[in-house]
Amino acid sequence: MKVAVFSTKSYDRTFLEAANARAGHEFSYLTPHLSSETALLAKGAEAVCIFVNDSADADTLAELHRQGVRYVALRCAGFNNVDLAAARRLGIAVARVPAYSPHAVAEHTLALILALNRKLYRAYNRVREGNFALDGLLGFDLYGKTAGVVGTGAIGAVVVRILTGFGCRVLAHDPQRDASLEALGASYVPLDELFGESDVVTLHCPLTPDTHHLVDARRVAAMKPGSMLINTGRGALVDTPALIEGLKSGQIGSLGLDVYEEEADLFFEDLSNEMLHDDVFARLLTFPNVLITGHQAFFTREALTAIAQTTIANLSAFDRGGRAEHEVSIERVA
Ligand code: NAD
Repeated sequence: MKVAVFSTKSYDRTFLEAANARAGHEFSYLTPHLSSETALLAKGAEAVCIFVNDSADADTLAELHRQGVRYVALRCAGFNNVDLAAARRLGIAVARVPAYSPHAVAEHTLALILALNRKLYRAYNRVREGNFALDGLLGFDLYGKTAGVVGTGAIGAVVVRILTGFGCRVLAHDPQRDASLEALGASYVPLDELFGESDVVTLHCPLTPDTHHLVDARRVAAMKPGSMLINTGRGALVDTPALIEGLKSGQIGSLGLDVYEEEADLFFEDLSNEMLHDDVFARLLTFPNVLITGHQAFFTREALTAIAQTTIANLSAFDRGGRAEHEVSIERVA
């Protein structure tokens, strides 16, 4: 199958080529993001392969359809960037990579919690400059603290297990309870209780109309004062200006982000020689208790191998005229 790969980075190519050795799909690697303007680049391809900051909205899908595209293979778990109703209308099938390595994202979540708590990013710079003073580096024992995990699917479940290992009391919130996590000691509680009691809250639910700005000004006000918030889910799970107000008032004690609502214009690119035009993001960077990584939680060898293998399997299933195992449609999520 001819496949146009959007937002290609060198590592995407390396892992896709390795996984494609036997399948023999024909990839054309494109660097731009997919949008209604760039959809023309897919001319002649039957499928497009896209990532988190590509937009497959209704206009883009219509343009892709005009170019002959019949399949969308997401090389990520989230599919909030695809208009599934438009895909259904156009007869475009969509597949994703549901769980490539929940450990990759869960372990990065813990990396953010630990680095923020013990201020490793500040300590690293201080020691390199010969400053061995400890003022400003005071942390807390994670042991015995209450951690709130919002969404206990593939990633959230691993986070719960790791936090349990640290000796945390774990509160969880998810419309679907996981009995194995309850057996470990996690308690499912309403969202307000989770935010009100947790010393650390971490978000692992998908971005949907229900979860959009799940953490807004009201929720920030309901947080335990001085608590830590971590978002490795999707940027729009939080209302960033409301978080900034929470940081200014001290209501939020520290903030770790791997995702940002407006990240499409920033993340995955080297913009170090350019001016930062996003004033909200610039304000976040001024806080000493904010740690941001550029959507790298998934970025491990194991995850990239699994992403490439599942993407090839999805494309091969489409090529055979069948349903891909991990198809997503307006009615069905695999
Ligand atoms: P999953 O589908 O296995 O789990 C999601 C869980 O969230 C499910 O158990 C679901 O019932 C629950 N949920 C749905 N609505 C909820 C709500 N309103 N409140 C609480 N829980 C709710 O997905 P996953 O593999 O665990 O991934 C979770 C999310 O993490 C993805 O949707 C994606 O947005 C994000 N993600 C980020 C990265 C990264 O690199 N930062 C990588 C992969 C995934």
